[in-house]
Amino acid sequence: MAYKKRARRKSVIKADHKHDYQPCVFEYKRISYFKVNEQETDLDTSIGTYCLICGKIGSINDFERWMVWAPTHNGKCFRYEYTTEANTEITPETRTLPTFFLNDMLRQKFVSIENSDGL
Ligand SMILES: [Zn+2]
Repeated sequence: MAYKKRARRKSVIKADHKHDYQPCVFEYKRISYFKVNEQETDLDTSIGTYCLICGKIGSINDFERWMVWAPTHNGKCFRYEYTTEANTEITPETRTLPTFFLNDMLRQKFVSIENSDGL
């Protein structure tokens, strides 16, 4: 496994590496089916993953860490709710994960990692 320690290069875009997905927080404009006043667009926040090396957006691989299947409406229904840890990261004041803004959360495949090199 020693050969795996390679220097990380910021400019690598092509996937010549095994993606190293780490949790992060995404912020994006709330998707609305109605045309709302552009200036009043709310931001939504969600937990996601991105590749530390190239910025590729991945899928959540430790789903149970962030979401819990919880009863609602007196146990008649169930829905996914954020876990305590997820809520900690969603809240800006207590967040420890890096945050990325998505201009197009449906189609965007990469985030810019130029400014988030250090932890
Ligand atoms: Zn990658």
